[in-house]
Amino acid sequence: MPRAIIGRVTVTKKPETLPAPASWGMTARGIPWEYAAAPESTDHVAIRPEYGLFIGNEFRPSRPRDTFDVINPATEEHLARVARASKADVNRAVVAARAAHDTVWSRLPGSERAKYLYRIARIMQERSREFAVVETMNSGKPIKESRDVDVPLAAAHFFYYAGWADKLEYAFPGRTPRSLGVAAQIIPWNFPLLMLAWKIAPALAAGNTVILKPASTTPLTAYLFADVVRQADLPPGVVNIITGPGEIGMELVRHPDVNKVAFTGSTAVGKMLARAVAGSRKKVTLELGGKAANIVFDDAPLDQAIEGIINGIYFNQGEVCCAGSRLFVQESIYEPLLDKLKARLSTLRVGDPLDKNTDVGAINSAGQLAKIAELVQSGIDEGAEIFQPDCVLPDRGFFFRPTLFTGVSQSHRIAQEEIFGPVLSVLTFRTPEEAIEKANNTPYGLSAGVWTEKGSRIFKMVAAMKAGVVWANTFNRFDPTSPFGGYKESGYGREGGIHGLGAYLDLSADGGNGR
Ligand code: NDP
Repeated sequence: MPRAIIGRVTVTKKPETLPAPASWGMTARGIPWEYAAAPESTDHVAIRPEYGLFIGNEFRPSRPRDTFDVINPATEEHLARVARASKADVNRAVVAARAAHDTVWSRLPGSERAKYLYRIARIMQERSREFAVVETMNSGKPIKESRDVDVPLAAAHFFYYAGWADKLEYAFPGRTPRSLGVAAQIIPWNFPLLMLAWKIAPALAAGNTVILKPASTTPLTAYLFADVVRQADLPPGVVNIITGPGEIGMELVRHPDVNKVAFTGSTAVGKMLARAVAGSRKKVTLELGGKAANIVFDDAPLDQAIEGIINGIYFNQGEVCCAGSRLFVQESIYEPLLDKLKARLSTLRVGDPLDKNTDVGAINSAGQLAKIAELVQSGIDEGAEIFQPDCVLPDRGFFFRPTLFTGVSQSHRIAQEEIFGPVLSVLTFRTPEEAIEKANNTPYGLSAGVWTEKGSRIFKMVAAMKAGVVWANTFNRFDPTSPFGGYKESGYGREGGIHGLGAYLDLSADGGNGR
């Protein structure tokens, strides 16, 4: 059997590849023209050799002093060392956050908290180039995404929640909203700065103080944010950031003086956290995995749908909890849609994330790359047909070709499990009822997409889909005003909008005593 290299991993079947259409006027495979490299400058960025834990507005070494390395996944080069927190450090952070909550932050009028949040948002905008470059160097995502999506949306979250800080009574009429206290927040590596903003902005607006634990592979924009916290003159202890392995996250969640737990990450860890806080009074929100269905009906505008499918699964290398990783195509348009999709896939530019032309950057870690390769191999072994464009991958770094599978059945692992990589499984359906049944046949329920010209069909599908977010004739659109969260194994609670604010407030009549 022929062997092929898939994202540096040898698999036992050669993928089908596609030459560029003749209408493009060249005979090359894949992209028929060369783009001159357009790398974003890194001159304005100063990554420090070492970062301590950010507690009480100071960077402090861990106790005992210990560090771990952070690398650039696109080059495998060392970027910095960061402190590895101990259990004692977790306690120090909680003590700092508690003191700041009880003596300063929760006592400030909402209008004063709002001023700090506006200040943070404005500084993030002023330093947006710095944030975008550091985010891309540390996570592997294309600079055009960190520059145009992650950083502006992160700033927008602070602007949005700043607006609510002095209007909590209006947000929840008839209630007396009170802060919960100290929030433990654990975030993943796929949107490090954006997830920070989703967590910290509503928490501070509601009068809580926070301890954030970023993912171990992507702590650098969080530590850059710590600089912003100081620049904005936030009272010490309101925002604390600690780094360390998953067990440190668990210590934080278990700490008896923590009142709120917010987690984004894998379903497996989310379940462990839910068990750890069961029986306590901690308020919890879990935003976990997904396996979204993107459903295209035969009356959909095809070219628009192709862009939505591409954006749905290849945005951020597919490392997106709400990625449209299962494509359901109505049988009558299967062939024309697939031809267009394969041609479009072949135009995606994979490579240096700092290059402004790049569409698909580096996978975040060697471990994640291995997971993607293993699941792709399972797709081949289970009999699905693989297609990959014939693009050249960089020699170093963790890269994976954009991939699509046809001939996928509902029982295949690639149709069931979250791959968290640039891999699309294509399935078909005949009737809306069949599409609904197949789309909902998953343990997850985070997001979905529907492509059709009929408004009535959109309403029917949206009502029937067991997913927290359903996009119609678009995909992967985010806005701070809009709540986001899941059903079933995708978690519970909402982030964003007024719902995201409520998740950080005690809205009970008796101050939580009767909860
Ligand atoms: P994890 O869920 O392990 O990591 C997410 C965050 O949780 C990180 O900060 C991590 O810290 C922390 N963490 C890990 N273990 C624990 C623990 N026992 N207690 C408390 N916190 C913990 O995701 P992975 O990075 O391992 O990715 C595995 C898979 O999860 C991916 O392939 C993907 O399918 C899914 N995933 C989903 C995400 C989503 O947005 N829904 C985001 C990330 C992953 P540390 O980095 O130090 O381990």
